[in-house]
Amino acid sequence: MSPADKTTVGILGGGQLARMMALAGAPLGLRFKVMDTSAEACAGQFAPMVVGDYRDESTLAEFASSVDVATFDFENVPAESAQWLAERIPVFPSPRALAVAQDRLAEKTLFRELGIPVPDFATVETRTGLDEAMERVGTPCILKTRRLGYDGKGQFRIRSLADADAAWAALGEQAGTVGLILEGFVAFDRELSVVAVRGRDGEFQTWPLTENWHVDGVLSASLAPAVADDVLVATAVEYARALAESLDYVGVFALELFSRDGELLANELAPRVHNSGHWSIEGSETSQFQNHLRAVLGLPLGDTRMVGHACMLNWIGAMPDARPVLDESGGHWHDYGKSAREGRKVGHATVRADSMAELAHALERIGQALSREAQVAPVRARLGV
Ligand code: AMP
Repeated sequence: MSPADKTTVGILGGGQLARMMALAGAPLGLRFKVMDTSAEACAGQFAPMVVGDYRDESTLAEFASSVDVATFDFENVPAESAQWLAERIPVFPSPRALAVAQDRLAEKTLFRELGIPVPDFATVETRTGLDEAMERVGTPCILKTRRLGYDGKGQFRIRSLADADAAWAALGEQAGTVGLILEGFVAFDRELSVVAVRGRDGEFQTWPLTENWHVDGVLSASLAPAVADDVLVATAVEYARALAESLDYVGVFALELFSRDGELLANELAPRVHNSGHWSIEGSETSQFQNHLRAVLGLPLGDTRMVGHACMLNWIGAMPDARPVLDESGGHWHDYGKSAREGRKVGHATVRADSMAELAHALERIGQALSREAQVAPVRARLGV
């Protein structure tokens, strides 16, 4: 009998993360039910759906009655809805972990309490409050919504005091709803993430540290393992472990970090499988999607070790031609089955190779064939080839 016999996993949010979770769970014999506000959500191509608002109790009740355990593809599910579900069925990660990750202030406060360095920050409630916060934090800085921001949305970069009016015009209205926070701008050398998993029994593992490149606030490419010294890697892992333990976290999460002169500063916690861990589908012994399911079901975790080197390239807006990736021996294609739309994550490719040089050459060929030299260039530069 399969350990997951007749188990149905419910996923709140039906995007590509839910879709890849369902694909990873199929070999375990799992069934899935996905809840989303749109009947077009791309996980619906692989799993039955419940369509409705996350705040609607009858939709939540229908969802709860048809699943054995619930998890998330999307962290902005209202905390009260997650709590409502958790009173009826097991929900992982917990509503508390979700609530912390939903609020940049709660998140940064927890990072500080745990001794994890963060950029300077201050909350902002009024236009004069913005001036005071700018005095405390200094310029350049970034005004961000406390809640509901993602992929660089709900952010305004402030270069000097003269930008304060424009920042307030862009986001001031949201001070009374989702709240605002001002953060010091970090002149980072690079962006890194550690994707980690913690089981119901407290077992903790991380995938190798990953380096990420963003364009307009949206992830463009990831390289694993990051080219980094052992001390930096160990520090990132210890920060992730401290967070996981303090939240009694169950499942996969990502800790996004800035690296500046060898020092790590935490940016944010994503309480779910993460775009910077997509390479693990082909690049590691056990993918983030499968290990997330194992964690929430209380099954033994799989090894997170990777074989060789992997680079993930995100496809934003529209899918390019698959052939140049499929032509590579280590090329893997992921089309999320979404319609094309500007700024939308519609798919990704992972290229895996045994050596850094081979990976760099494969990326060079793909970049040229798809006229995406700029997307692969920073990764090739890091690989030093
Ligand atoms: P976030 O939504 O907070 O992850 O921000 C999206 C991207 O904006 C990050 O990956 C960084 O590239 C950039 N960013 C956000 N916050 C800061 C900061 N305090 N300093 C420098 N860059 C930032």
